[in-house]
Amino acid sequence: MDEVYFDYQSAKPVDPRVLDYMLPYFSEKFGNPSTLHNIGDKATEALKKSREQIARFINADTDEIIFTSGATEANNMALIGYALRNKRKGNHIVISEIEHISIRNIAKYLEREGFQVTRVPVDLYGQVDLTKLERRLTDETILISIGYADNEIGTIQNIPVIGKLAEEKGIALHTDAVAAEGLIPIDVKKDRIHLMSLSSNDLYGPKGVGVLYMKKRYRVNPLIIGGGQERGLRSGSENMHGIVGMGKAAELMQKEMKKDAETLQRYRDHLIEELLEIPDSFLNGHPTQRLPNNVHVRFEGIEGEAILLSFKDEKIAVSTGSACTSKTLEPSHTLIATGLTHEEAHGSLQLTPGRFTRDEDIDQVLSVTPSIIERLRKMSPIYKPKKKMITK
Ligand code: PMP
Repeated sequence: MDEVYFDYQSAKPVDPRVLDYMLPYFSEKFGNPSTLHNIGDKATEALKKSREQIARFINADTDEIIFTSGATEANNMALIGYALRNKRKGNHIVISEIEHISIRNIAKYLEREGFQVTRVPVDLYGQVDLTKLERRLTDETILISIGYADNEIGTIQNIPVIGKLAEEKGIALHTDAVAAEGLIPIDVKKDRIHLMSLSSNDLYGPKGVGVLYMKKRYRVNPLIIGGGQERGLRSGSENMHGIVGMGKAAELMQKEMKKDAETLQRYRDHLIEELLEIPDSFLNGHPTQRLPNNVHVRFEGIEGEAILLSFKDEKIAVSTGSACTSKTLEPSHTLIATGLTHEEAHGSLQLTPGRFTRDEDIDQVLSVTPSIIERLRKMSPIYKPKKKMITK
């Protein structure tokens, strides 16, 4: 890569070891698991192995893993499928104010279909307010959906506590775990999760494949009807090369995550410390309950888009927020939910290092950032350096 890459949160390269493992499934290992001859049997075995690799990674059982085309589909299955299946029990769903766009749009769809959706606020660090969450649960509530961690500001939610609360009330807990997977350990049993969405690419596997974890005895209605693959919940010939890629990526991640996360955390802490040396800069998100790869700093008086373009000129790929919403000019809903004004929410820089980041990449981004910020502030009609407080 001749670009320095600091946007692993938006997309990750497929690990070369995963790619090597996938390649035969495009050619000699082309079988379909629904067929009964030897070539089909090999595909059935490969499918089983991938299911085992994913199950082991999150401490689930193999029959709790449903392969999908990605986390968006898993989110649809979890929310729409669960709501439709359980509508006789109640019609109320609770999400947080900072959910990923796929969850927010699914929630709007469910509202149009007659369900009631409550959006729980978060505190200034982006953590769901647990007292407010509990107060919003009613006898009609069938499902809570809260992201495991935020893909923009990196705040980690207190999922085990939410899971316990959900179980006490007989409500299902779904979590979109895409931002957290591969960075912090997830144990569906300890965390008391009932439904969970995963995306392969966040484990350095291929895009276009994901998983819905569905705890035993929980049920969803299928959204894709056909030949009955994936226990009738997700029909269509299995994306075998994608599925084996995701399985291998999960296996590697399980072995390497602890070490990877230590390195990422070292990078994160160094980046945050240095960036906060720049005047009028602030950390977004939680100071400690934070993903090990997440740096999200706000610089007063600057437009996020201008920051992004300046880094582009330096051949450094950075982000100002979620890739899934970056084409809109709207400020980040997550930053607004943490209490920032529209103006403040616009001036943030997000750096997410990953498995292939090197020390020299960190040095490079830190060597250019202060001058970029200084130059943009000189051109900014809104930047006014903060006067030092004079106290008597
Ligand atoms: N949830 C979150 C938190 C995400 O960041 C993304 C995008 N990577 C998705 C869901 C959608 O995942 P996919 O592209 O696999 O559908």
